[in-house]
Amino acid sequence: MARYHAAVCRLCRRDAVKLFLKGDRCFKEKCAIEKRNTPPGQHARRRGKLKGYGLQLREKQKMKRIYGVLEQQFRNYFKEADRLRGVTGENLIGLLEKRLDNVVYRLGFASSRQQARQWVSHGHIRVNGRRVDVANYQVRPGDEIGLTANLAKNVFLLASVESSSGRGVPEWLELDRENLRGRVVREPQRADVTYPIEEQLIIELYSK
Ligand code: SF4
Repeated sequence: MARYHAAVCRLCRRDAVKLFLKGDRCFKEKCAIEKRNTPPGQHARRRGKLKGYGLQLREKQKMKRIYGVLEQQFRNYFKEADRLRGVTGENLIGLLEKRLDNVVYRLGFASSRQQARQWVSHGHIRVNGRRVDVANYQVRPGDEIGLTANLAKNVFLLASVESSSGRGVPEWLELDRENLRGRVVREPQRADVTYPIEEQLIIELYSK
């Protein structure tokens, strides 16, 4: 599947916000946004202020990049969010939050969503005791998230758990740090997601 393989910090600099794509580095002074919050490219500074369609497009790109999903997947999430009862924007965020790779990242079992996706696709993650290797698997309240014995000993996993303690776990999830297990307590709510996302702009973009 096509993925973005260039320097990911450029994506943050283009959106002028932290998208948390690079693990621990995002929480340190080395973060490119902390050091140099300017758009990438030689002529980028000359570009005018975004408005209308440009603004909506950037917001959509930002959300896609945060959760690491491709265009068609994102469009499918939007269609599903629109079909569900409730506020479309909140449904969209909820669907993205409930992806298994995001849950693994949120629980601190991975330093980035990219690493979380790798743990999942390599079959290291269990949901209710069963191996699930599909990153976009939607978790449900009551689901128990566990790790294989091999992953529980992995040095990168242990380092992620250690370093993620300062990051905190959202209230809709529960972490048993000692036994390396997580649980989905309830459905995620809009207030659980603190990223600077204006989902209304995305709705406007797709409603054209
Ligand atoms: Fe973005 Fe993380 Fe790079 Fe900072 S370190 S610019 S948050 S990817």
